[in-house]
Order: sequence, then C-alpha cells, then structure tokens
Amino acid sequence: MPSPPHPFRIGLGHDTHRLGPGDGLLLGGVRIPHDRSAIGHSDADVLLHAITDAILGAAALGDIGEMFPDTLEANRGRNSGEMLQAAAARLAAAGWALGNLDCVIFAQRPKILPHRERIRASIAGLLGIDVEAVGLKAKTGEGVGPIGEENAISAECVALVVRRA
Ligand SMILES: [Zn+2]
Repeated sequence: MPSPPHPFRIGLGHDTHRLGPGDGLLLGGVRIPHDRSAIGHSDADVLLHAITDAILGAAALGDIGEMFPDTLEANRGRNSGEMLQAAAARLAAAGWALGNLDCVIFAQRPKILPHRERIRASIAGLLGIDVEAVGLKAKTGEGVGPIGEENAISAECVALVVRRA
C-alpha cells in the first residue's frame, strides 16, 4: 500500500555564469556595481536562476532551461524576477506553498555582505514571503579555480515547500 503523500518536499538549485568585463552584477534582482558582469542569454541573475531551479525541483517540475529555453529569442535578456514568479506560480498550481529558502553565492568579489539585506528583501518581495524565510550566505573561491580567478560566479539554493491544505 503506498504511503500517504509527504507534507514537505525539498528542492536544490545550482547555477553558474561566466564573468566578463562589465559594470555590475544582478544578484537576487539587486544591481551591484562591479568591474565585471555575468554573461548570459537572459539578464544573467545567477542567484534568481538557482532559486528558480530549487523551487521547480521541489515539486519535480523540471528546470528553468525547460521552462525558458535559451534557444527562444523571446527569452533574450529576460527578466529573471519574472521567470522566478512564473516558477512560483507553477509550484502553487501543483499544490505546494514555499516554506523557506537558503542560498549561497560563490564569488571572489565583490563582497556580498554589504548588499545582503537588500538582496534578501528583493527575493522575499518577488516571492511574497517573509524576509525571515530567505537565508543568504556568500563564499569566495579562495583565489583558485574559475570562481577564485573571477572567471565565473555561481549560486546554490535549497527550498522547502509545504503541501497546501
Ligand atoms: Zn543562469
């Protein structure tokens, strides 16, 4: 006999973008002045992409690349906040409510801490959840590898979702 459906699920999201010369990064919907920028088909917000994949993954709804293929011209420069909200709407339609997120940004520079509260508030606002439900940490690449040598930026996120009554 199948066991009753579990009231909680978790999802994991990971994303990486190449970095090149530029004037800033978009992280969690917040523009951060910097001497490099992330390169991507959409607006290259690596953190929102990781969160979007975590949310979709929690409900086994596929991933951001399936929802918004980078082969479609309509997705060029696409606003990642809109993509996140579309994923959240699919999560809700599948019968799940978002519980909390815990996110990590991997970047050698710039320092994320001075921007952390603005980024948390931005993510909470996009998803309509309490800022207390959005954890955000940052790690450097310790000066080695693509992160440490500032050729790439990555982000990871886990999301807990709760079955809606
Ligand atoms: Zn991405």
